[in-house]
Amino acid sequence: MGYRPAMADKPKGRGLGTLLVHAGERAVALRARPTVTPIYGTSTYLYPTAKELDQAFADGNQPVYSRHGNPTLDQLEGALSAVEAGKGAVAYGSGMAAIYAAILAAGTPKGESVPAVRRVLVANDLYGATLRLLDEQFRAQGAEVKFTDVCDLDRVQRDLESLRPEVVFFEQISNPCLRVVDVETVVRLAHAVGARVVVDNTFATPILERPLGLGADLVVHSATKFIAGHGDVTAGAVVARTSMVLDVLRHQARLLGAILGPFEASLVARGLKTLELRIQRQCFNAAALASWLSEQPKVARVLYPGLESHPQHLLAKERFGGLFGALVAIELDVTGREQIFRFLDALGLVLPATTLGDIYTLVTAPFISSHRELSSEQRRELGISDSLLRFSVGIEELSDIQNDLAQALEAISDTQT
Ligand SMILES: *Cc1c(COP(=O)(O)O)cnc(C)c1O
Repeated sequence: MGYRPAMADKPKGRGLGTLLVHAGERAVALRARPTVTPIYGTSTYLYPTAKELDQAFADGNQPVYSRHGNPTLDQLEGALSAVEAGKGAVAYGSGMAAIYAAILAAGTPKGESVPAVRRVLVANDLYGATLRLLDEQFRAQGAEVKFTDVCDLDRVQRDLESLRPEVVFFEQISNPCLRVVDVETVVRLAHAVGARVVVDNTFATPILERPLGLGADLVVHSATKFIAGHGDVTAGAVVARTSMVLDVLRHQARLLGAILGPFEASLVARGLKTLELRIQRQCFNAAALASWLSEQPKVARVLYPGLESHPQHLLAKERFGGLFGALVAIELDVTGREQIFRFLDALGLVLPATTLGDIYTLVTAPFISSHRELSSEQRRELGISDSLLRFSVGIEELSDIQNDLAQALEAISDTQT
């Protein structure tokens, strides 16, 4: 075998204190291989000889220390890269860490490893914490951050030409207004001025669209959401289209120590296996609920890419393979937050919890959650009114979700002023 012998083999003569540390460890040499990657809860690795350890350091493709690589994490990163059709992926402890890392890597000049993010062009409507990251990290350190309407391609082109950014960042299916971006065209325009494109694909998931295939340079996920899917883990990932950007991403992740632990990685990897099944069911439920909600008197407006009334319906229809996502936003026909709170409190099955992408149906009011730190002026500009609610539709029975919404709408019907 060559590995350091297991203490279980020759426990005689060792003290209890030593046995407690080593006994039974490294004793099992399996001939069989597990069907699923085990959780490698180890921070370091042993090689049979010092020469092989030296070789492992030199080659870089065998584990030597878990900040540089862990087989459980490697499996997840390999899987994420394959499903997003990239050259490789790096997993992080949260979606925010992934977004930060992706912008740094995208803003690292060719052939260098030190990030130099000076100009970033970003979508107007972004996840609340992403807006604050841009403001409190990048802008605060002197970068120019310009907002644009990524659905208005003429404006994107003008802004690209005047700003000349290193990085363009947007969400495919935006939060919370569910706008859909023509990724292919934005990528073409951005590449023409030498910018790299980062797409937050958390809402679309690779089941609806794979931006790297359309030329995007990096794809980001809050794996906390659909990818893991069960509301039991916080994680993020970045997938790179080219080895050059991947190398930068890996180098920076190791240096900053921004890694995902093996326990979380194994939960995310398990979630990923059922992503397509969950998304299909969730999209089916969401589409049915969106049309039903459109007919309810207390619902003033429904935002769903699958409805013909949605401004990018045709684009979504062309690009997303017949699916339109699991998120539905509505505006209730009420005035004042009491009515909104009454609706939320009346829900029984639908959970008013701050997240999305889980197997259960969830609802949030962005003005008190994801976008609460923005001023009401900023929210108004983004189209986020106090009566806007965002549903993340789960895999439950459609009729049960619908009945729950119906009785909550009923609860605000008889109280209207
Ligand atoms: C949740 C979310 C994030 C942040 O991810 P965390 O895992 O919470 O850090 C970023 N972007 C989008 C679109 C999200 O929904």
